[in-house]
Amino acid sequence: MRVEFDRDTCIGMFQCTAEWDAFEEDTDAGKANLADSEEEGEDLFVREVPDGEELDAKFAARSCPVDAIAVYDDDGEQLIP
Ligand code: SF4
Repeated sequence: MRVEFDRDTCIGMFQCTAEWDAFEEDTDAGKANLADSEEEGEDLFVREVPDGEELDAKFAARSCPVDAIAVYDDDGEQLIP
């Protein structure tokens, strides 16, 4: 499972940080940070979801009010949003 975080879209509501600890609050920027991710385009951060953290990643994606977080299965199919 893979997660993509569009940091440009993020408005810093920080619901995601309560759901999955890979998302961290950057209160100075008013944005979340996705730990251990790689930037794959301007403000687009990507990483694999470790085994056992899939539900947390999905809840984080569902919690985002502006759909800044997308989750894909291993076949590349988008699960959320
Ligand atoms: S829930 Fe969405 S808008 Fe809020 S901090 Fe997380 S990614 Fe940003």
